[in-house]
Amino acid sequence: MSLRSGDLTEKWYEYVYRDRAESVRRFVEQYPDERALSVSCDRVGHDYRFVRPLLARPDEALRAGRAALRQFCADETDRDVGDRDFGDAYLRVTDLPGDSEVTVGELRADHLNRLYTVRGTVAEKGPVRPKVVRAGFRCAKCDAVTRQVVQRGRRFRSHAKCPDCNSVGYLSFAPAASEYVDAREVELRDPDGGRGDAGGERRESSDDRRGTVTALLEHDLVDAASTGESIRLVAIPRASRTGGSAVADVWLESVSVE
Ligand SMILES: [Zn+2]
Repeated sequence: MSLRSGDLTEKWYEYVYRDRAESVRRFVEQYPDERALSVSCDRVGHDYRFVRPLLARPDEALRAGRAALRQFCADETDRDVGDRDFGDAYLRVTDLPGDSEVTVGELRADHLNRLYTVRGTVAEKGPVRPKVVRAGFRCAKCDAVTRQVVQRGRRFRSHAKCPDCNSVGYLSFAPAASEYVDAREVELRDPDGGRGDAGGERRESSDDRRGTVTALLEHDLVDAASTGESIRLVAIPRASRTGGSAVADVWLESVSVE
C-alpha cells in the first residue's frame, strides 16, 4: 500500500517527536551545532505503516521525518531557525526489525536505496575530511552568495539559477561560504569472510574483493568504528557509476552505527 508523505510526516511527529518532546526540544535548540538526533525503531515498530515505508523508501521517509521536525519546531518551540529546514539534520535511526539485517557479502542490486542493518568488519579507515553539507554559490553577475543547497550523500548538487537576479548559468561553488562536517570513508568486509558456503575451498580473489564496500560516515559517526571491529551499520546501499560504464559500485550511506 502507498501512503502519502503527509501521513508519514504526521507519524514522525506523533511517534517520534511528541513522545519525547523534551529531548527533541533540546536538539532543536542546539541545531545546527548539533545535527544528529537518534531515533529508535523500537518505539515505532508497532505500526507497519511507518516502518514499512521507512525500510522500503528511506529517502522519502527520512524527508518526512525532517519535515516533521520543522513542524515540531514551529509548534512546540520558540526557536526560529529561519530558512534552515533541517535538511542537513541526521536522523540516526537504530533498532530496525531483525529481518532487515544483511552482511556486506550479501548485498545485491535488490538492496539498493532501501534501509538495512548491514553487518561488516572494518577493514580499513580513511582519513577524516571535510564534507560540504550546505553549499554556497556565488553569482558572477550580481555577486550575491546563496547558501541553500543541502548536500546529502556523496553526489554534489549544484544550483543553476541565482535567487537574487534570476540569471541562469552564472553560479559557481563558493567554498568559503559553505558549511562542512567531518566525514570519513571506511572499507567494510564481510564479517564471515565470505558467503560461508565454500566448504573450505579456496575462493577466487575476485570473490574476496566482492565482499568489500565503502561506507561513508559523517559528522558524529566519523570515530564510531575502529579497524578490525565488527559493526552493525544502519545504512542505505547506493550505486555509484563512473565513466561510461553501466556497472556500478555499491557504497553505503550511513544512517547510524549500532
Ligand atoms: Zn545573481
